[in-house]
Amino acid sequence: MTKSYQGSCFCGSVQIEAQGEPEAMGYCHCASCRSWAAAPVNAFSLWKPQAVKVLAGAEFIGMVRKTPMSERQYCTQCGGHLMTWHPPFGLMDVYAATIPSLTFKPGVHVNYEQTVLPMRDGLPKFKDFPAEMGGSGQMLPEHRAADWEQMTG
Ligand SMILES: [Zn+2]
Ligand SMILES: [Zn+2]
Repeated sequence: MTKSYQGSCFCGSVQIEAQGEPEAMGYCHCASCRSWAAAPVNAFSLWKPQAVKVLAGAEFIGMVRKTPMSERQYCTQCGGHLMTWHPPFGLMDVYAATIPSLTFKPGVHVNYEQTVLPMRDGLPKFKDFPAEMGGSGQMLPEHRAADWEQMTG
């Protein structure tokens, strides 16, 4: 049986469901995600578009497109965030916080160059994106140089 993970916006007007298993999970540290989420990091789960269904409240879904990279979807009733469609990747980021029944198993950090919250979890830290997603593929240490300077005085 296909697993499904249901979630909603902050007020519950919009109900969504992700089916199956995500293509990837991890953390994005970019300034756009931080500003949009009002949080130091965005925990993402990426899904093929056919895996994500809007069960109710489709008429309440608003969208912000600051760059061609991301179409950020939110509820027009409560302002709660739902998910982000990434046209270049052909994948939907359903925020891990939006579908709490999904066991969040992060595998990677992206845009770590922009981090304000260095995380010592041993996972790979991409400077921007993996090469197969159009990024540099370059890896960074868990601590930024500035943090090392603070620690060592
Ligand atoms: Zn809402
Ligand atoms: Zn981001």
